[in-house]
Amino acid sequence: VIEGDVFWSGEDGYEDALAQAVWNELKPPRRPAAIVHATSAEDVVAAVRLARERGLRIKARSGGHAWTGSSVRDDAILVNLAQLSEVRVDAASATATVEPGSKGRDLNTLLEPHGLFFPTGHCPTVGVGGYLLQGGWGWNSTSLGPACVSVIGVDVVTAAGELVHADETQNSELLWAARGAGPGFPGIVTRFHLRCHPRPRSMLLSNYVYPLEVIDELLEWALQIGREVPPQLEFVILGTTPRIDNVVVEGPPALVINAIAMFDEAREGERALALLESCPVLEHASLRVTAAPMTLNELYAIGESTEAPGFRWAVDNMWTDAGAAELVPAVREIFEGVPTPASHVFWLNWPEQEIRDAALSVIGRTYIAAFTGWTDPAQDERYRFWGRDHMRRLEHLSNGIQLADENLDARPEARYLSDENLARLEELRGRWDPDGVFPSYLAGAG
Ligand SMILES: Cc1cc2nc3c(=O)[nH]c(=O)nc-3n(C[C@H](O)[C@H](O)[C@H](O)COP(=O)(O)OP(=O)(O)OC[C@H]3O[C@@H](n4cnc5c(N)ncnc54)[C@H](O)[C@@H]3O)c2cc1C
Repeated sequence: VIEGDVFWSGEDGYEDALAQAVWNELKPPRRPAAIVHATSAEDVVAAVRLARERGLRIKARSGGHAWTGSSVRDDAILVNLAQLSEVRVDAASATATVEPGSKGRDLNTLLEPHGLFFPTGHCPTVGVGGYLLQGGWGWNSTSLGPACVSVIGVDVVTAAGELVHADETQNSELLWAARGAGPGFPGIVTRFHLRCHPRPRSMLLSNYVYPLEVIDELLEWALQIGREVPPQLEFVILGTTPRIDNVVVEGPPALVINAIAMFDEAREGERALALLESCPVLEHASLRVTAAPMTLNELYAIGESTEAPGFRWAVDNMWTDAGAAELVPAVREIFEGVPTPASHVFWLNWPEQEIRDAALSVIGRTYIAAFTGWTDPAQDERYRFWGRDHMRRLEHLSNGIQLADENLDARPEARYLSDENLARLEELRGRWDPDGVFPSYLAGAG
C-alpha cells in the first residue's frame, strides 16, 4: 500500500505533479503513466511492486534538477522522493546519512557545529539523490574528490521490489555503481551513507572581471596555472554577462573569474589566491576583489544565482586534456557567442585525482560546459542546441562528459563512462534489473 499521493495520467493533480517534477522551465515532452509522491522507503518498495504488476517501468526523482528531466519517462511510474529528506549526523564517527530528497545545504548546516563538512553541490537546491549518483562536483571537490567517493553505503530498492543495503562488504557492486552511474543506476536509492570531512575554517573568494578581448591570454594562463594551484583552490572562469549583487548587468559578455580557496588557515588561502595576481593581463581587470572572506551560505547564494530558476535551460559539456594551442582557439568561439545574458560558458580547472572503486571514470584537466538560459518558448529552437552543437564541434578534443550536466537526449553519442566501466555497468544492470524495470540513460533507449 502506498501511503503517499498517487496521480495517474488524466487525473486531477497529475499535471501539477508533472510540472513540479522538473526544475528546468524547459520541460521534457515525455509523460509518465503515473506519479507517486513517496513518503518512505516502504512507499518506494510498494511503487516498484505496483510498476511490476502493471507492466510499467519506474524512475526516481530526488531534486528534479537534471537539465534533461531524465527522471520523466513515457510509460513509467515517476516516483518523486522530495519528501524523503531526512539528514542524520553521527559526529563521533564523522558520518552522516541522507535521504535522496534532502538538499546539500541542510546537510552542511547540521555538520557545521561539529566542525564537519561535505562537498555538496554549488547550488543549494540540487537534490542529493541525483547529485551523488552522477558524481557530485561540489564545494571543495577539487580537494576532496567528487562527492560520490565519500559515499560509503547505499540503501537501495531493487527491481525485485526489495530493500537492500550495499557497502564495501555486501552488495559492493551496487556501491560501485552508486558512485557515478547517475541515471544508469539499476535501483532506487532511499538512503546514502556518507563519510564527512573536517570543515575548512577559512573560505576566501577572489573575483576578477576581464574583457573578452583578452580571452586568449587568460585561457592560456588558466591552463598553465591549472596544476600549479593547490587543490583546495577552485578556479572557475565564466564567460557571461557579469552580475553585480547577483543582478545581470546588460552589456557585452565578459570573463569572470571566481576562485574559492578552502583552507584551515586564512593565510594559506591568501597565498594560493595570490597566484591569480600573476595573470599576464591583470591590468585589464575591471573588477578585482582578492581573498574576501565568505561563509558557506554566501557561496551557496553565488551558486544559486549562476543558474537561476525560472529560465528554460539547455546544457552540454566536456572534459578535456587538450593543451592551449588546440583548446584556446577552439573554445574562443563559445565564449564569444554566449547567446543571452543568463547564458554562460563555464570553465573549471581540475587537479589530478585518482578515483577508485567507482563507476565514475570520465574526467580531465579542464571542464567546459555551455549553459543557455532564456524565457520565451518561441525561442526554443534558436537556443536549445547552441551548447550541444559546440560540444559536437569540439568532440575531437573531448575525453567525454560529466553526467551532472548531461544532454544525452540531444547528444546520445556522448561518452559518459570509460568503455570498461560501461561494460561492467551493463553487466550489472542485466543481473540486478533483468527485465529493464529502471530506464537507463536517455541516450538511445529513452
Ligand atoms: C541549478 C543547478 C545547479 C547545479 N549545480 C551543480 C553542481 O554544483 N555540481 C554538480 O555536480 N551538479 C550540479 N548540477 C547538476 C545536478 O547535480 C544533477 O542534475 C543531478 O542529477 C541533480 O540531482 P536531482 O536529484 O536534483 O535530480 P533528479 O532530476 O531528481 O535526478 C537526476 C537523475 O538521477 C536519477 N535519480 C535521482 N535520484 C535517484 C535515486 N534516489 N535513485 C535512483 N536514481 C535517482 C533520476 O532518475 C534522474 O535520472 C546542477 C543542476 C542545476 C539545475
